[in-house]
Amino acid sequence: ANELDPETRKLTEEREVLGPAYRLFYRKPVHLVKGVGSHLWDADGVEYLDVYNNVASVGHCHPRVVEAIANQASLLNTHTRYLHENVLNYADDILSTMPDELDRVMFQCTGSEANDLAVRVARTYTGGQGIIVTAEAYHGNSALTSGLSPALGTAQTLGLTMRMIPTPDTYRLEIDGVPASQCKPEAFGAWMAGEVRKAAADMQRHGIAFAGLLADSIFSSDGVYPDPVGYLKPVIDAVHELGGVWIADEVQPGFTRTGDAFWGFARQGIVPDIVTSGKPMANGLPTSMMAVRHEVLEPFAGSIPYFNTFGGNPVCMAAAQAVLNVMRDEDTMGNARTVGAHFKAVLTEMQQHHACIGDVRGAGLYIACEIVKPGTKEADQPMALNILESLREHRVLTSVCGRYGNILKLRPPLVFSDSDIDWFADAFEKTLSELKA
Ligand code: PMP
Repeated sequence: ANELDPETRKLTEEREVLGPAYRLFYRKPVHLVKGVGSHLWDADGVEYLDVYNNVASVGHCHPRVVEAIANQASLLNTHTRYLHENVLNYADDILSTMPDELDRVMFQCTGSEANDLAVRVARTYTGGQGIIVTAEAYHGNSALTSGLSPALGTAQTLGLTMRMIPTPDTYRLEIDGVPASQCKPEAFGAWMAGEVRKAAADMQRHGIAFAGLLADSIFSSDGVYPDPVGYLKPVIDAVHELGGVWIADEVQPGFTRTGDAFWGFARQGIVPDIVTSGKPMANGLPTSMMAVRHEVLEPFAGSIPYFNTFGGNPVCMAAAQAVLNVMRDEDTMGNARTVGAHFKAVLTEMQQHHACIGDVRGAGLYIACEIVKPGTKEADQPMALNILESLREHRVLTSVCGRYGNILKLRPPLVFSDSDIDWFADAFEKTLSELKA
């Protein structure tokens, strides 16, 4: 910490008031004061490239979102016990992006709250308690969702009615002797469906009825496993055969991120029973939602009142509507597809010259880059962390994910451009040569 400038050191020390649970990124924390598009500036006026932020989905401080927020905030913002057209217009509009079966939507402020509600709805509908998640999943910070988030690594918080299935790790797994990366979607999906059946059977042995699978269709916190497209179909069939529901946690893959479809589940060709989202919805205003089939919602909503003070308020809905309008008008899906494909190609090319890059995979502007010990598939977390720190010195901000914390998670605002890729590639090349990786 000695190398910190006085202002950064002061702010870092003053954070003690927040308690020790929070984790800042970087040995030398970044103090940001301004953002435009996919670029950020720190207090000294230094410009950074943002390769990590899915909250600023349509770019930092998008003028149309800023204007929508300011206009509505200067008219009215209130709790949600009155009529307001913003929430109804947005409800219709967001449901129009989904399959017809998903015809009800409720609004919250965070992804955690949306998942919390989704689990309650699933349990009431099925009469079961048991929820299956993947081994490194993160679904939120509430009492219920932290108990469904093995990524937190705190076994004592995990729920007794929770069961884990393995990460669908297409880089390392072998299915019947065939590397998962070469498996057909049906075969890989059949393996995963088998894991769901085993977990449900274990629940049953313990007297727990199965309620559903809570899964992020890109498995972002597990390490980003979007392919082979179609592998989730046998899994959702198994969930339904077992009497459960599929809760698609779209906090990460939704809102055009994967480039092929508006929703991650749609890219996989499945129709979930419940969909949750949050982060990218309102470009930074706390806004989240749970969309659901009306028949699945009915037993819960017909008997249990639900009130969310801020969820769906006029300002958040104005921001969410502006985000959706921008996504259409600026074709963020098309940008995620073409710029994402270029980004992946550049990284795949770099993989040829740098033995520490074990795998490059992803969909659209959601790309994972596995850092391994050369010549093996062994995760190299210390190297990945050194890469992060060095990228930061080259003014590129990103982070890592996955069980071993060795996977660079490249997930920029959806307005990321080819010149941003050049910036990243230049910084990554310098980083790898400095680290002799
Ligand atoms: N689900 C997923 C897949 C997430 O990535 C996150 C947040 N990282 C959440 C849920 C929780 O969202 P929030 O932090 O808004 O509560």
